[in-house]
Amino acid sequence: MIRPGPNLPPSPTLRPPVRIAIIGYGTIARAEHAPAIAADAAFELVAVVSPGGAAGAGVPVFASLAELLAAMPGGIDAIALCTPPRVRRAIAAEAIAAGLAVLLEKPPAATLGELDELACDARAAGTGLLAAWHSQYAPAVAPAAALLAGEDLAGLAVDWREDPARFHPGQEWLWQPDGFGVFDAGINALSILTAILPERLLVEEAELILPARGQVPVAANLRFAGAGRSACFDWREAGAQTWDIRLATRSGRAIALLGGGARLEVDGVEQHLAPAAEYRAVYARFSTIVCERKVLVDREPLRICADASLIGRRIRIEPT
Ligand code: NAP
Repeated sequence: MIRPGPNLPPSPTLRPPVRIAIIGYGTIARAEHAPAIAADAAFELVAVVSPGGAAGAGVPVFASLAELLAAMPGGIDAIALCTPPRVRRAIAAEAIAAGLAVLLEKPPAATLGELDELACDARAAGTGLLAAWHSQYAPAVAPAAALLAGEDLAGLAVDWREDPARFHPGQEWLWQPDGFGVFDAGINALSILTAILPERLLVEEAELILPARGQVPVAANLRFAGAGRSACFDWREAGAQTWDIRLATRSGRAIALLGGGARLEVDGVEQHLAPAAEYRAVYARFSTIVCERKVLVDREPLRICADASLIGRRIRIEPT
């Protein structure tokens, strides 16, 4: 039997909002998490943790989760972890040990080992844990998964090209060895694929293009097992930004998820979709995870990045 813990309200019918703290109040926390929490009656933002401060948060701000827990004993039920990936495991483990439910921004951890450990910790503690791959909640994803169910894949082409300076200005952590480089964006495409494909993707060959100085790829080309299955991730795109996935089935169907899953074309015909509300859907899912104390962790997108990093051929761009 699942029993409510000390920080969770007992009755599912008269449940007050989940008291949540955002840890890491940077770009994505401000742009998506805070508004999604504010729009969801199932949650109440009660605190923020950000070492450099969090102007305008409108709630108490702490320099660390330990400080928050000391200042608000029994005062929170859950955290949304929006830091860069390297510090996630330690903070998430601290939260789980304190009986809190945890939402992990993507990528959910810096390594597969860390992610597996967190899932084990959460199961052992009976707390909710969600690896929140936001792109899996894009409007084209569920209909594409339905179209692909029971189909055999004949081909797959991912074209994911953007200019990180537009979306991540000043974020030096992305270029650190544990910052993922272009995989920070490419992993969104992989998370869509793991949600919709009728098969598991195995990396057979990878090219990792490294900047003249630096340890993480600025671009990556992946070839998957099976004919005609490839992905191109590139962070050198100054022109039109592209986040497209094109699939063909053996039954002859062409399915295209365009604009990061905001649009869907089937056999060249644009499908009518609901407007994008990825983070609203993430929090709707997290609400269930918190209350039911479930662990929902799709490790496949991170596994594919790790596999590409294990076997990838490094190509260094010559200094100019
Ligand atoms: P960001 O703007 O650099 O924000 C990261 C925040 O984490 C900063 O406020 C930083 O605080 C804080 N932080 C760093 N170390 C911390 C620690 N030990 N404890 C608490 N807070 C800490 O990065 P971001 O773009 O929001 O990205 C964060 C995560 O979200 C990444 O994993 C990224 O892949 C994911 N994401 C980003 C986007 C996007 O478009 N930006 C979209 C979807 C998902 P200080 O500034 O005070 O150091």
